[in-house]
Amino acid sequence: MNLIFLGPPGAGKGTQAKRIVEKYKIPQISTGDMFREAVAKGTELGKRAKEYMDRGELVPDEVVIGIVKERISQKDCERGFILDGFPRTIRQAEALDDMLEEMGRKIDAVLNLVVPEEEIIKRIVYRRVCKSCGAVYNLIYSPPKVDGTCDKCGGELYQRDDDKEETVRERMRVYREQTEPLIEYYSKKGIVFNIDGKKDIEEVWKEIEKVLERIRS
Ligand code: ADP
Ligand code: ADP
Ligand code: ZN
Repeated sequence: MNLIFLGPPGAGKGTQAKRIVEKYKIPQISTGDMFREAVAKGTELGKRAKEYMDRGELVPDEVVIGIVKERISQKDCERGFILDGFPRTIRQAEALDDMLEEMGRKIDAVLNLVVPEEEIIKRIVYRRVCKSCGAVYNLIYSPPKVDGTCDKCGGELYQRDDDKEETVRERMRVYREQTEPLIEYYSKKGIVFNIDGKKDIEEVWKEIEKVLERIRS
């Protein structure tokens, strides 16, 4: 199963992708996580990506396309994958189509998480992430049992630099301008499934499970 998650920043893509990983045993490919890891390690890629991320802008297409191509050709992606945060521009989508075609594969479904903007801001501003295992929490909707500490691994929770309200507005603008057109791009191929992402995490998951069971059979 080769899947894409679409939806604005903070829609719940990462949260739901982790459930897909567990149930269907396919890897999550999150370009945002890959960049944050590179930034934390201080690699060349990290230095280059950070200036864009801090402004809420997109990292240049060539850079992102390169890392995804390398990731998708790894062995653990043979049985499928879930792309979270990629593609984000039409150029990235076209490059993805090209690389999959070369491999004799294609995208089976695009899960489009639909969430209104007011809700997005709340989700992002209260988002906290585990430094050690990447688990995602929300101080309002899914708080950790102990303040500042990850339930799963005891790691320290932090707020992403780009999760401050000013940057969130810019990321929303970038989403509408550059990423939203992908909904039409994939609709033309007839593979978009709209998911009501306003509901709580459990309910959204049930809807996603239904879609995935349908496309698997
Ligand atoms: P969210 O889903 O919360 O918006 P991500 O973790 O996916 O955030 O992305 C964080 C930042 O990383 C983006 O604002 C952008 O700067 C960069 N980034 C991640 N994925 C891409 C991509 N596919 N193309 C360009 N930039 C990206
Ligand atoms: P994305 O990967 O799309 O940026 P995340 O999965 O990181 O989004 O979720 C953004 C924030 O919203 C996190 O704090 C997460 O705990 C919370 N969240 C995710 N899904 C829901 C939901 N259905 N209802 C309420 N909060 C949610
Ligand atoms: Zn953790």
